[in-house]
Amino acid sequence: MNTAPAETSAISFISDVFGRQKKQAEVLRSEPVAARKKRLKALAAWIKTNRSLIQQAIYSDFRKPEVETDATEIFAVLTEIGHALANLDGWTKPRKVDAPITMVGTRSTITYEPKGVCLIIAPWNYPFNLSVGPLVSALAAGNCAIIKPSELTPHTSAIVARLCAEVFDDSVVAVAEGGVEVSQHLLSFPFDHIFFTGSPAIGKVVMQAAARNLASVTLELGGKSPVIITPSVRLRDAVKRIAVAKFINNGQTCIAPDYLLVHESVIDDVVKALKAETVKLFAVDGSFERSSHYARIVNEKHFNRLSALVDDAIARGANLALSGAVDAATRFMHPVIMTNVPRDARIMDEEIFGPVLPVISYSSLAGAIEYINQKPKPLAFYIFGSNKKEQQEILHKTSAGAVCINDCAIHFLHPNLPFGGVNNSGIGKSHGYYGFLAFSNEKPVLRQRRGFTSVQFFYPPYTHGVKKIMNWLIRLV
Ligand code: NAD
Repeated sequence: MNTAPAETSAISFISDVFGRQKKQAEVLRSEPVAARKKRLKALAAWIKTNRSLIQQAIYSDFRKPEVETDATEIFAVLTEIGHALANLDGWTKPRKVDAPITMVGTRSTITYEPKGVCLIIAPWNYPFNLSVGPLVSALAAGNCAIIKPSELTPHTSAIVARLCAEVFDDSVVAVAEGGVEVSQHLLSFPFDHIFFTGSPAIGKVVMQAAARNLASVTLELGGKSPVIITPSVRLRDAVKRIAVAKFINNGQTCIAPDYLLVHESVIDDVVKALKAETVKLFAVDGSFERSSHYARIVNEKHFNRLSALVDDAIARGANLALSGAVDAATRFMHPVIMTNVPRDARIMDEEIFGPVLPVISYSSLAGAIEYINQKPKPLAFYIFGSNKKEQQEILHKTSAGAVCINDCAIHFLHPNLPFGGVNNSGIGKSHGYYGFLAFSNEKPVLRQRRGFTSVQFFYPPYTHGVKKIMNWLIRLV
């Protein structure tokens, strides 16, 4: 194995910490809920005290504006903690269920036990939120966890490591920094649950590794999230909401609008208004490069990948409605809005994950739906238009991880909604109660009465009487 020194030490540390977490998980299993709350409160306190360190780290990684970090990383995680603290007593309470006629006399509850030792593998694009957010759910459910943050955002990974070292004993929460080698080494351990956020391609690698130990998985993946804009769109609202969701974080958002499918009757107005709104929101004195509201591409590899996607589309005949100079040295990429994009361009096939927005037109809603349904199921689907009949038609004829009507991406911040994809865009759900469930084993506990029980009607020997009761029951159900 060709491994960097930091990775070598992470690798030797993993086996030791995994063993200690296995033992500690048994202690955590019988702890009162108050102990979980104490951990969550300590986590929130550290984040509040060290808010500027988190902002600086993410700025150093890809020049993300402070307020964006506040809104999409710090506020999002603190909301998750606050929601868990407010609801944990209710979530953990054993839930009574009624007995059917065949179980008269029994009493049953569903209890929620921690899964045990969990692995959280995070991506780089919301490097704090997507490492610490799942940790909140893991701790709320009473687990131990090892976090593997992304190697592409090293400053934020170091902050996540520092946070965990200062707040938790590593027998409860530990961080293994490093790249693919560290991730693969972690995946060789028999974790009780693996929570992975990243690309569909690596999601498959993780699921294969999990299968070796039959570990359960939550896979938060990506893909192309489409926007349909119908003729009944309220233009001013739509372009503002789309521009923010697309260009925030420099377009590097799993639920960013990937492409727009716009009805031909409104496409010219949409493109014109979207250009104006993008400049108004993100540029300063007409410059995106000098703007402090506009982040950067995470690394050279992604900068080159995005440039190649744009070049390929242009070579195939796409027009640039909005574009400008780029700077490879600082990984500055001007927002790009392109029209007339041929449907066989690479940009219409791969997840874009950057500040490039193809706009294509449709003439019939059925055709637009068919186009979307030919692609893998998206993580998010956005519909703009006030026509309820069209909204219903799109909702019923397509499949997606989530749908927002007349807005984009804000469902991520709604604590009462499950977040996640479907098939290629993900398996399982996260956030709030759904995150708690992902890290819990829903364990039914059935208590039987003393003496004769209703199921004894069906015990052998299978007499005429038993058969008669069985026939009666089968007719009844
Ligand atoms: P990625 O899949 O390349 O990497 C994610 C993590 O997996 C990193 O920590 C990385 O070190 C690790 N990894 C990479 N290759 C590995 C391998 N061969 N074996 C084991 N581990 C490996 O993803 P990324 O580039 O960091 O993030 C972008 C992707 O994540 C996009 O597809 C985006 O849509 C998706 N995403 C999804 C969500 C969501 O909530 N559904 C959120 C953010 C990002």
